[in-house]
Amino acid sequence: MREPIQLETDNGLYLPGLELFLDVRTPWENGFISHAHADHFARHENILCSEPTARILKARYNVADERLNPRPFHEPLDVGPYRLQLLPAGHIYGSSMLHVTRKSDGESLLYTGDFKVQPSLTAEEPVFRQADTLVMETTFGAPQWTFPGRNEITGMILNFVNECLEEEFTPALLAYSLGKAQEAHAILTSAGIPTVSHPSVAKMTTACRHAGCPLSAPLIFEDTIPPNHVFICPPNIVRSEQFRSIPNLRTAMLSGWALNKNATYRFGVDAAFPLSDHADFPGLLEAVRRVNPRRVITVHGYTREFAAELRRRNYEAWSAAGGDQMEFDLPR
Ligand SMILES: [Zn+2]
Repeated sequence: MREPIQLETDNGLYLPGLELFLDVRTPWENGFISHAHADHFARHENILCSEPTARILKARYNVADERLNPRPFHEPLDVGPYRLQLLPAGHIYGSSMLHVTRKSDGESLLYTGDFKVQPSLTAEEPVFRQADTLVMETTFGAPQWTFPGRNEITGMILNFVNECLEEEFTPALLAYSLGKAQEAHAILTSAGIPTVSHPSVAKMTTACRHAGCPLSAPLIFEDTIPPNHVFICPPNIVRSEQFRSIPNLRTAMLSGWALNKNATYRFGVDAAFPLSDHADFPGLLEAVRRVNPRRVITVHGYTREFAAELRRRNYEAWSAAGGDQMEFDLPR
């Protein structure tokens, strides 16, 4: 049996063979940034990321060019004894997995970052390549997190919007400004429904467009919402004075957590729909099947539960946060 590619977890995920941190929040010399969400970003000296993510990072965080090492998807990159490859993760536009192969013996590791299995309108289709070690996010890693199909969710959103418009209410979709908001924009555009975007959403939509995502130009919200338009805005503005002063609003939250029974009450909205940019529980299992690993390490969310589920299915699996193993050589 080959020696696994070493992974350390004491300061966040780290590949010592490559001297490379993976999606950590503290700046280091070398960091892989899987996508441009804030909880994966730090101002590393050398940032390895996909080409579209580099463009979004520049627009969002004003990252200097000399820090960025953008790579095209799929193209191999040799670093010492390793060969690296960035693969689309399907989470948001530009989101990337990192595949590492040790050239001497072919041993491999896949780090997923945030990912989604079901296709979306705005993120690239995910590509799962076989790897001996799979390091995967498990945000929704328990069976109750099984989302309806894509068409069903789109139908729910469009029904809500059309009902609001018929009853002369203004529909507001609350969606995280990078990722979910562009997906909402694309869903409504393809249904022929015009939208107005909050400036923070419009900024990210424009950044995604410049990075190559096929979206129409956003109409930017100033003070009013034109008739028959849908307002797309980030969830954190609902308590703002400006938001409260918009007349006749009906609000809907777009989030995987909408499956929670008390979601509308918790979010303080009129409706909630389970549009997520993460894999649901069946999606996580599907990813494991496609990667066909010898061992799995889980990060984020239901890490222990999902690892236990995989052990029941005869995989070697454990949580990266699993208390007893702060730093470890992967067992064979
Ligand atoms: Zn993310």
